[in-house]
Amino acid sequence: MPPSFVKTLEDAILYEYSKIVICGARKKHLEAKRMEGKVLSEKQSEELDALTYKTSSLYYTIVHGHFKKLRDKVHKIGSIGIDNEKEARKERFGCEYCKRNPKELERDHIIPKNLGGLDHTDNRVNICSSCNSSKGAKLPFEWFDSSARKNLFKRYGIEEEKELPSFVASKYLKNLYELHKKHDTLLKQMPPEGPLAKHSPFTKTELERVTRDCLSRKLRKTST
Ligand SMILES: [Zn+2]
Repeated sequence: MPPSFVKTLEDAILYEYSKIVICGARKKHLEAKRMEGKVLSEKQSEELDALTYKTSSLYYTIVHGHFKKLRDKVHKIGSIGIDNEKEARKERFGCEYCKRNPKELERDHIIPKNLGGLDHTDNRVNICSSCNSSKGAKLPFEWFDSSARKNLFKRYGIEEEKELPSFVASKYLKNLYELHKKHDTLLKQMPPEGPLAKHSPFTKTELERVTRDCLSRKLRKTST
């Protein structure tokens, strides 16, 4: 179950986005400072630890702070850019999911087309054929958590990757936001807080369950 302040689909998307994108940027900034030999203040060191291990209450305080800024429109989630394949391929290397680099890469629609995902560079990533056939029509978080994906990575001897790579995750959440905006479903209620609540990892699962539910209903309606 999502934390109690995550009440709508919009909240859930912004909450996950805060975890992935903005915290990543803050962590990179602090790491760069340390690499340059700058001494971090005690507060900054604590912050860097919190962002690295993602378990302390400070981590959730930081995420919540960013979430509020997004929700109150102080920061923006960003919109879908220009459809530019050349730009999108620049400096990217190998499969975006497993990071291996086979000769041929295929294109994956992060949000499957059958759920209304756009055929647009912002909704496409280059991936290997194994990841592509394993992911199929699944949504990204769902696939990344699946045992099929974990077994595939194990077979390739890939070190345990616990989270969807942030490059894909940020594209995904931006697309999801746009898609729900288009279908007028951003304010769809998330299930109420349950016994597992507070800051549990279930937001992603709930987010995709509610997404699948309302998008497939919308698409059914338009096709009849
Ligand atoms: Zn792959």
